[in-house]
Amino acid sequence: MSKVAQMSREQRTTWTVEWAPLAACRTSAPDALFVQGAAQQQAKQICQRCPVVAECLADALDNRTEFGVWGGMTERERRAMLRRHPNIRSFRALFEADRTAQAS
Ligand code: SF4
Repeated sequence: MSKVAQMSREQRTTWTVEWAPLAACRTSAPDALFVQGAAQQQAKQICQRCPVVAECLADALDNRTEFGVWGGMTERERRAMLRRHPNIRSFRALFEADRTAQAS
């Protein structure tokens, strides 16, 4: 089993702090996630097979990352999510707690 496939299984029950080395996009072209319009839907497909999509999304939301597709969401989708949940201080804490709850 590859390291990524193994982490994909593990990520269901544990939070991966050092998630970047496991990113599905790590071998993509550097600009692949910084596209506009319909190309963003293609970029999001990379995220669909990523074992650390929740970690990436939490990082992008918590750091208010403005540009690019991160965690399977476009910048527009992330802005909408932030507007819908103005009281969430840490998406990482929220997602991590949810994962822990699902694992128990
Ligand atoms: S969720 Fe998408 S942008 Fe984030 S690390 Fe995975 S492939 Fe890259």
